[in-house]
Amino acid sequence: MDNQTLRLVDMPTGSQCVIVKLSGHGGFRHRLMELGFVRGEKVRVIKNAPLHDPIEYEIMQSHVSLRRIEAQHIEVVSLTDETAESYSFNGTITEETTRILGERGKTISVALVGNPNCGKTSFFNHATGMREKVGNYSGVTVDSKIGIFKYKDYTIQIADLPGTYSLTEYTPEELYVREYVFDHHPDVVLNIVDASNLERNLFLTTQLIDMNLPMVMALNMFDELERNHDKLDVEMLSRLLGCPIVPTVSSKGAGIQDVMKNIVDVYENMEQNTKHIHINYGADIEKSIEILKGIIKKDAVIDSEYPARYIAIKLLENDQTTLKAVEQHVEFEELKKEAVEQRALLEKSYREDAATVISGAKYGFVRGALAETYTVGKDRSKQKAYTVDNFLTHKWLGFPILIFFLFFMFLMTFILGAYPQEWLEMFFGWLGGLVSRLMPDGMLKDLIVDGIIAGVGGVCSFLPNILILFFFISILEDTGYMARAAFLMDKLMHKMGLHGKSFIPYIIGFGCSVPAIMATRTLENKKDRILTIITVPFMSCSARLPVYLLLISAVFTTTHGMLVTGVYKGLVLTSIYLIGILFAILTSLLMKKIAFKDNSDQFVMELPPYRLPTFRNAVVHMWDKSVQYLKKMGTVILVATIIIWALEYFPQHSPQIDRYTAQIEQISADTEMDETVKAEQIKQLEFDRSVVQTENSYIGRVGQAIAPVFKPLGFDWKMGVSLLTGLAAKEIVVSSMGVLYHADTDADEHSSALQASIQAQTWTSGALKGQKVFTPLVAYAFMIFILLYVPCVAAVTAVYKEAGWKWATFTVLFNTLVAWIMAFLVYQIGMLI
Ligand code: GDP
Ligand code: MG
Repeated sequence: MDNQTLRLVDMPTGSQCVIVKLSGHGGFRHRLMELGFVRGEKVRVIKNAPLHDPIEYEIMQSHVSLRRIEAQHIEVVSLTDETAESYSFNGTITEETTRILGERGKTISVALVGNPNCGKTSFFNHATGMREKVGNYSGVTVDSKIGIFKYKDYTIQIADLPGTYSLTEYTPEELYVREYVFDHHPDVVLNIVDASNLERNLFLTTQLIDMNLPMVMALNMFDELERNHDKLDVEMLSRLLGCPIVPTVSSKGAGIQDVMKNIVDVYENMEQNTKHIHINYGADIEKSIEILKGIIKKDAVIDSEYPARYIAIKLLENDQTTLKAVEQHVEFEELKKEAVEQRALLEKSYREDAATVISGAKYGFVRGALAETYTVGKDRSKQKAYTVDNFLTHKWLGFPILIFFLFFMFLMTFILGAYPQEWLEMFFGWLGGLVSRLMPDGMLKDLIVDGIIAGVGGVCSFLPNILILFFFISILEDTGYMARAAFLMDKLMHKMGLHGKSFIPYIIGFGCSVPAIMATRTLENKKDRILTIITVPFMSCSARLPVYLLLISAVFTTTHGMLVTGVYKGLVLTSIYLIGILFAILTSLLMKKIAFKDNSDQFVMELPPYRLPTFRNAVVHMWDKSVQYLKKMGTVILVATIIIWALEYFPQHSPQIDRYTAQIEQISADTEMDETVKAEQIKQLEFDRSVVQTENSYIGRVGQAIAPVFKPLGFDWKMGVSLLTGLAAKEIVVSSMGVLYHADTDADEHSSALQASIQAQTWTSGALKGQKVFTPLVAYAFMIFILLYVPCVAAVTAVYKEAGWKWATFTVLFNTLVAWIMAFLVYQIGMLI
């Protein structure tokens, strides 16, 4: 911008002016526009003293204060007092003001950025009628030429910049383009791309995307693309990249008008596909970027001059020019130190410098965008080298490979997990026995042995499975395979109104909903995220598995030998998982119809480079995902176990209980009775007493109160109570059943004792009196209920944190309703048959 332009920062107190245009990076302009600073809007300066920061303005009847550096970026035209009055009434102003508004406000500066030989100069010459030298060589002179193009009542000033492959700092051309963009603040960047060499050309585009500049892309050499019979979905690519794309043949001048139209639309914020996208650099780098961004944003000047994300990325790349540019930052030393630390951290986990990893991710982005939009013509594809991707994302081969990997992962989880699980169970059994021998009888002992050790121990034994599952998921993610899987699933996921990236949270959801819900953060589109978040809990998490295992082993038995029984049990279990997936699909289809109709946003599925996973990284990432689960164990589960224990333990006395106690004392005092008979009788009485005690306990009373709700599903009150306790964590359902059904607590035979006890349960009253409680039908309805009803407190909290209380409430109500209806249908229809 030249010197004669008037800027808002120069306007004295009391004066009035009209906004002509804004300059600066996209995020910054956006902020100003949200405050009302748009072209044609009138501003009054309330207070602007020299050296005073911020300055106070009145705009759209409200007071706004801007920093000097911000007001510096706003070009204005001054109004006299009289014209100001009439301007606010009917928008009329003096001819002079109109002229300046029209001229300056409709002058658009455009910078041509592109690879060498992509046709920038040809475009420039055709557009401006100038005769710059066109040639098949990289420019040696680092210079720019300015030409003018008239489009409607707009004056478009085009600057032809030197060609570059990248925007690092290795050549004078690169530095020149970078400086030009940040110093001259072109209103729009025209990225000229050679359509016959998309991968390399779009690499430069990814850097422009990081800079968050208003952008139009000219897809030049479109004739070459057509001659090669390559196919490109231009509209889709445009939506993926978040900028309009216009095919051009600049050597013939084709498409230039269309380019200009799009430049005007982008300038006037009227362009539909324009949006600022983030290239996803992967969890580790994104984490580092967030940390650096936090520091960068502490300095308002730097923050308004450069997009913080861009600076963060450049610092991670160890870009010296950027480091220099932010030298004035208020926390420069801290920023520099943190950048060094983050770089070291990344280098340690990737064993490559961060810049290489970042370029790798950029190519991954480009590959992903092209994989979805671009097909190489027949004659050229023959020469294409075979890559791993040809197999892993192959139309037919891809799915079997994916299914094999997932199957392998789950198999390993349970096979490898079984050993530590057994050890942990043994350990807790031993610990319980030890404590009960060492401690005197009493409430405290009961609490520790029956409450804490039994409850937490039962849940802990499940931890190895979770860790192993997350370890495998981390490896799949780290190698880059998960991204391919997401890519492969994209079409299928679209059919259910979701994005391919939702696939990863779903897989994690088989482990635990909490990290799965957190993993939805890689989805940029809010609607996709929410849809994924509310459907993830239908993926049967591993906490529900012990309940299935217990019921299936206890109830689904056959008389046909091991193999048949095994297959039968396996099918039952698989059907539960499949029903969960089915409900995720149905829910998202339903929600798409009701709440998310216009869910049309597209974004790139990055195909990051393949990497050999390192053990260290896999462990670190596994740990990241597991932390939530571990926290849940230490807090929610512990507290819930104690509460449930207490509710079941008290009250200890009632006339009936006391009668049993008296009877027991009487028998043990009897000296004439045979010792074995005596022991047997006491045992029976103690058991009867415990049954009465449970029914009389607080939890028993709650259970009987809510029993009518579960009656139509065929559940007895103990099942109802177990489900209630499952709100804290689904694993607790098993320990609750253990408590309520009074399994003989032989420590090492805990589970089989519970199985026997479950098999033996009969109805003690009502129409079904004497019949078994756990028929296969009831057990199946119960498992369906466990699968579908409200997820545990930790998962609901995660939904609340990621999507808000509205969706958390939805999850609680909707899932429970669906569970009840499904269990009802299963039971009632099953009873008819
Ligand atoms: P620059 O380095 O980006 O300025 O590219 P130039 O404008 O110098 O063009 C490089 C070469 O590509 C020249 O030989 C042009 O004639 C040729 N060229 C430019 N645009 C097109 C196009 O759209 N189609 C084809 N086939 N050739 C083009
Ligand atoms: Mg040139």
